[in-house]
Amino acid sequence: MKEKSAGEKLQDKLGYEKKNFFSVATEEEIKQIYEYSENYKKFLDVAKTEREAVEASIIIAEKHGYTPYEFGEKLSKGDKKYLNNRGKSLVLMRIGSGNIAKDGIRIMASHIDSPRLDIKQNPLYEDSSMAFLKTHYYGGIKKYQWTAIPLALHGVVVLASGKKVNVKIGEDESDPVFYVNDLLPHLSKEMAAKPLGEAIEGENLNVLVGGFPFRDDDVSEKIKLTVLNKINELYGMKEEDFLSAELCAVPAFKAKDIGFDRALIGSYGHDDRVCSYPALTSLMDADNDRYTVMTVLADKEEIGSEGNTGMQCGIYSDLIDMISAGLGVSPAIVRANSKCLSADVTAGFDPNFASVFEKRNSSLVSYGTTMCKFTGKGGKGESNDASAEYVGFVRNLFNENKVSWQTAELGKVDAGGGGTVAKYIAKMNIDTVDIGVPVISMHSPYEVVSKADVWSTYRAFLAFIK
Ligand code: MN
Ligand code: MN
Repeated sequence: MKEKSAGEKLQDKLGYEKKNFFSVATEEEIKQIYEYSENYKKFLDVAKTEREAVEASIIIAEKHGYTPYEFGEKLSKGDKKYLNNRGKSLVLMRIGSGNIAKDGIRIMASHIDSPRLDIKQNPLYEDSSMAFLKTHYYGGIKKYQWTAIPLALHGVVVLASGKKVNVKIGEDESDPVFYVNDLLPHLSKEMAAKPLGEAIEGENLNVLVGGFPFRDDDVSEKIKLTVLNKINELYGMKEEDFLSAELCAVPAFKAKDIGFDRALIGSYGHDDRVCSYPALTSLMDADNDRYTVMTVLADKEEIGSEGNTGMQCGIYSDLIDMISAGLGVSPAIVRANSKCLSADVTAGFDPNFASVFEKRNSSLVSYGTTMCKFTGKGGKGESNDASAEYVGFVRNLFNENKVSWQTAELGKVDAGGGGTVAKYIAKMNIDTVDIGVPVISMHSPYEVVSKADVWSTYRAFLAFIK
């Protein structure tokens, strides 16, 4: 090999160049990347809603010795607990052996809700020989993407008796699926001339749920009655029970490898299971118990972290109070010394839509977990802009632990923007920065991530809590 020139040597010494992790990972790591992804895909398929993500996470946590936390229960060193907040968000707490007054708590926060079509409270009607459910979309979606794909119905119904029934239909091979109609191209002249965001209207996202008439001429809405009869058989539901239901339509697709080399994963709901699964499993797999750790799997991020299961709820602060009380330390001191990785997806640079990105500061697929010092929109509006000091701390942590990572902004300045839960944690006087996985086609019914980045995010969390 030719010896490097003085300029090349200086370049190596002073320059910064990020690298595709697949091209530098060891054979052993590549094996681990692919193995980890197999388990992640299983999690994706059983955890399509926040409620299902809570259930699936509890199963994993209990296997690792975590037990339910009774609100207010005194905690002590060595405890491994989980708080199930109303079945929609989950907090895992491991009380470390170290000095919590000095180290604070290591917090890994992510969310488990995803954009979808929520079923309205009074949804069922029939028209022109078809029965439909009215929907109200949840989170930021491009409405045209939700037509003409197979959908599954997930959720819960609280019956008049007070009994809660789980609904999950459209996932088994033998299940029927559901559907939002689209217009044939032959008659789409007017529609095709509309802006993309207006071509499909929110009120037209009606889910097709039936087509067989109840055979009785005395009944006026025969197909609706057939559907009511079926859901009564399946779930014990009557029409009024929709009023106290939380049902949603989600894509019926399964997570699959994408590409001949299987480097990528396609799935509904990578945002934000692709960060919550690593946040959960890193805590399960951590072999050092020095730090007290909280993994937060929050609900409602996609609609602004509102409500009592969202990250703006006081429960997280309350839990820090309780952990501190159990250990006899001021919660204010614990908060001041705590550190957080807020984990959420970012936009992977897509050469098909290069104009909305600034490539030097974009997240490249397979280049590792991505740190976003800030998110927000229009001059960093509404962003938790992490300090250089904290970014420096995380940078050194990742580098020392050979985590594959990069930095990015969500697109070009003024191209749009977005937020995460970071700012709500930072408000508690906790150093917080966003990390996460670059996603292609984010918020679509079938998003794409790189296996290398899922693994790197897991490794980043492990480094953070070890
Ligand atoms: Mn997200
Ligand atoms: Mn999102």
